[in-house]
Amino acid sequence: MPAANADYKSWDISTASIHADKHLSITPEIAPGISLSSTFLYNKQTHRGLNHGKEEYEYSRDATPVLRRTEAVIGSVCNGFATAYSSGLTALFALLVRFRPTRIVMKRGYFGSDNVVNLYKTIAPGVKVLPICAQYEENDFVWLETPLNPTGEIEDIRYYANKAHAAGAMLVVDSTFAPPPLCDPFKLGADVVVHSGTKYFGGHADVLYGVVVSKCPKLAEELHEQRYVFGAVPGNLESWLVLRSMKTLKLRVLQQSKTAQKLVSWLANAARGATLEETDGIPVGDIVGVKHASLQTFSPSFDVCSQHPNGFGPVFSFYFKTPEQALWVARNLKIFHFATSLGGVMSLVDWRHGDDKSQDPRLLRVSVGLEDIEDLKNDIRRSITAYHVYTQTKL
Ligand SMILES: *Cc1c(COP(=O)(O)O)cnc(C)c1O
Repeated sequence: MPAANADYKSWDISTASIHADKHLSITPEIAPGISLSSTFLYNKQTHRGLNHGKEEYEYSRDATPVLRRTEAVIGSVCNGFATAYSSGLTALFALLVRFRPTRIVMKRGYFGSDNVVNLYKTIAPGVKVLPICAQYEENDFVWLETPLNPTGEIEDIRYYANKAHAAGAMLVVDSTFAPPPLCDPFKLGADVVVHSGTKYFGGHADVLYGVVVSKCPKLAEELHEQRYVFGAVPGNLESWLVLRSMKTLKLRVLQQSKTAQKLVSWLANAARGATLEETDGIPVGDIVGVKHASLQTFSPSFDVCSQHPNGFGPVFSFYFKTPEQALWVARNLKIFHFATSLGGVMSLVDWRHGDDKSQDPRLLRVSVGLEDIEDLKNDIRRSITAYHVYTQTKL
């Protein structure tokens, strides 16, 4: 594991995301190189990796220069020590293998995380999976996804951290939907934070990546050793792409959050409106609901501002009168791609029922990208209006 850059602690995320890997640079290049080598020359005297800069590299299942740089940047941006994996779900699986919990406490969010827990059950028979509202016991593995897929609604991290710690349990937060600078789960008591780096860290829908961030260097060290054993390292091209994207993380995410917030208000207004004037031209009655953290009512004890000081996540869901209309509108959008995943610079819309039958078939999940807000509104308005032309010509 690389030594942290001591300077980054005084830096803002925007500075850290660009400079926190500087001390690991081993060439005069300003842009990091992509080393494709799987193996590195020995130091002939010590039979260890040759010392490149301050680090030793031997074999790429252990580490490569670009992987260490990416981990250094993610760790400093996330306020901890990062271990990177080949995907977000691998990161969750690695944690389960490390802690081998006999009780997992979780609320249903991303269905892939359920699949991982089911896989873990096959190698750890007898493990119990309990709802997040259960009474916790010592050594419980509490898995809190917030914001929650697919609605973008949030849970009170501090509340669950206190509840977990009072019982001697650990709180792991899947913060994929609210990357820095939107939320820092460590400030609210989380023990471990997981990100699917495929989403906002990668940010361009061109890389699969996962990260475990820990407050405790010893845990990060153990995870690195475990990763060396089972080989779930990300490839160098993937690390390089994430390292490059991290430099614009703050800028992208803040803008995406702002645009999402405006789109959510606009759609919620359309859901309430009784005339085309009130709905801003969206056919009246077609949108029957919108879900997002900005529309939630919170209990007075939930300090929402300290959890989300810089805005809510850029993913939300909205609901149509019928499943047919939801699907038709999704298929006929021109700017929003009709595709799964989230967090990229391009806006995506997904019909979650397709992948996950427990989701309402009238629901469309939106991941807001970096396009202009008026263009996005026009696209939604046009597709919904076109649905009526389509149904009339069908009659
Ligand atoms: C995508 C996602 C994951 C899984 O990440 P992969 O990189 O696809 O393996 C886990 N949790 C959440 C909330 C996600 O959105």
